[in-house]
Order: sequence, then C-alpha cells, then structure tokens
Amino acid sequence: MKVTEHISNANGKTLFSFEILPPKKGEDLQNIFSNIDPLMEFNPPFIDVTYHREEYEYRELPNGLIQKIVTRKRPGTVGICAAIQQKYKVDAVPHLICGGFNKEETENILIDFNFLGIDNILVLRGDPIKSEGIFKPHSQGHSYANELVSQVENMNSGKYLHEEYANGATDFCIGIAGYPEKHFESPNLDTDLNYLKQKINAGADYIVTQLFFDNNKYFDFVSKCRSIGINVPIIPGIKPVSIKKHLTALPNIFHIDMPQELVMAVEKCKDNKSVYEVGIEWTVNQCKELMKHGVPVLHFYSMGRSENITKIAKKLF
Ligand code: FAD
Repeated sequence: MKVTEHISNANGKTLFSFEILPPKKGEDLQNIFSNIDPLMEFNPPFIDVTYHREEYEYRELPNGLIQKIVTRKRPGTVGICAAIQQKYKVDAVPHLICGGFNKEETENILIDFNFLGIDNILVLRGDPIKSEGIFKPHSQGHSYANELVSQVENMNSGKYLHEEYANGATDFCIGIAGYPEKHFESPNLDTDLNYLKQKINAGADYIVTQLFFDNNKYFDFVSKCRSIGINVPIIPGIKPVSIKKHLTALPNIFHIDMPQELVMAVEKCKDNKSVYEVGIEWTVNQCKELMKHGVPVLHFYSMGRSENITKIAKKLF
C-alpha cells in the first residue's frame, strides 16, 4: 500500500515508521532482523531502506603501486526490501539515488521494485562522495532529484526509456527529502523550497524531513511549504542523541542546529550512559509535541540501532 494511503487510512492518528541501512560488506541479514524485531510492536506501516555509494581506498603497496579509490554502490537495498516485505508483511520503501546510476540502470531497478510488489520509493539525489567533494552526476544519469522523480513519474504513466518495456505503467508513490534547516548547498531556505516545489510539481507525493531537534524549525518549514502551495504530507525525521560526540557530529554531517538547551543537558552528563537517557527524554518530549500538532508519521533514523527507539516508542505508541 502507498505511504499516502497509510496516512489517510490512519484518520489523523500519528503512525510510527523507521529507516534502516543495508549493512556494509554483505553482513548477516539476521542483524537487520534483530534490529527490526523489537520495533514491530509499534506497527510500522512501512520501513525505509537506504541506498548508498561508498568508497574503498587501496593504499600504496610495497611494490610501489599507487593508492586507488574505488567507488561502488553498496548492495543490499533491493534484497532487504524483498526480505522485509516477505517476513514482516509491511511495506518496504527503498531509497533510490541519482548518484552512480545511469537512467537505464534506474529504469531496471524500478522494474525490479515493481516485480517485488514495492509500492513506494524515496527519491534522492544522494550525497557527494568524499573524494569528489561536490556531487558529480553520472554522465548518463540525473543531476537533481526532481529529474529522477520525473523518470519515476514517466514510468507511472507508461513512458519507459525503451519502448519494448512500455507495456504496463507502474504506480509508485514517490517520497522526497525536505530540509527544515535548508539543504547545505542551498544559499537560503526560500531557494531550497522552490526546488522542493519543483520536485512536487514533477510528481512527488510526500516529503520526509532531515532530522531536527527543534520542533519550531519543522513547524516553520511546514507553514512555509503550505504558503507556496506544497500540500503533501510532511513527515518529520527523528534521531535521538545517544553519545556526547553527537553534539558535534550530527550538526557536521547533517547541517543542522542543536538547541542550546539540549547541548547544555548533554554537556552536563558525566558519561554516555546519561547522554543516552537525556537523548531519550528529549526525543520523547519532542515527539509528544509533534503528535499534538497532528504530524502524520514519526519517522525514526535508526542508523542500525533500535534499543533507544524502542524505549522512545514505548512511551508514545
Ligand atoms: P535535491 O533535491 O536534488 O537537492 C540538492 C541540492 O540542489 C539542494 O541544495 C537543492 O536546493 C538544489 N537543487 C535541487 N534541484 C535543483 C535544480 N533543478 N537546479 C539547481 N539546484 C537544485 N543519501 C543517500 O546517499 N542515500 C540515502 O538513502 C539517503 N536517504 C535520505 C533520506 C532522507 C529523508 C533525507 C532527508 C536525506 C537522505 N539522503 C540520502 C541524503 C541526500 O541524498 C542528500 O541530502 C543530498 O545531498 C540531497 O538529496 P536531495 O534528494 O534532497 O537533492
């Protein structure tokens, strides 16, 4: 079922969902299941599975061969989505990125998603890879997420790149990313919102936000979206702080602000055990306020760990 249908069927009740990462180097699938299992109690109608590109550095060898950086797509997303749908009977939402894919590979993976009975795709540009610094699109691929949304939307209306495949339209529900504190490459929030609107105009059905810790950023973002005619569901992305290092790491990686009150509470902690508890308490309060405002879904970034999310969800659902 489509994410948008899950939301309308919930009749205003806030749903619980989360995102998992495919493990590095084909690690055992059982680890993924062990993280998902405790979260099933909260009836997630859908689970997102991210898609990544990664780099391997080959260092200088004794025979003098120079270091080489190899970029590849991390495998797992398609298989894990299939496994989730089969084992848990919930909708898996694969992420699909522009980076590293040509349009034909994109079409092929979408055809596979369709065969697997996947109804939703979260469409993204993807982050730049480290050695390139700025995002470089595949020469035969897409530069921005709005172009990838258009490709999916074309398939939804039966327009494929190669006519021989154009014998049946897909019907994917399309999610996209939104940034309450603006995307880091954007000069300002208004410019970023115009591009967000472009993705909606291209056919996107819902938005999932970058993580944030200050609900006012989300509320302002939603009202700005509404004021420029973005009327799709806007799902808040949530991540609890769990170690002291997050105070610097999360703003650096995700280009977001940490509220002073949270920073002070974490800094007061003697050890990471207490930071973990502070993170849970902050997130529970944050989510309670979001629920009061009637957010459609609380979408948690699990980053491979589910214990704190389980504790938080127990207090909310
Ligand atoms: P876009 O919407 O293409 O925007 C990128 C930048 O370009 C923005 O600054 C925007 O303002 C600007 N822009 C957009 N369109 C245009 C245009 N037509 N012309 C000029 N400028 C434009 N990354 C992964 O690699 N794998 C994942 O699975 C993944 N999952 C994510 C899930 C969520 C919910 C979020 C919020 C992010 C996720 N990311 C993931 C990170 C994401 O790929 C990066 O934030 C990336 O840098 C931008 O992706 P986007 O889809 O928002 O890009």
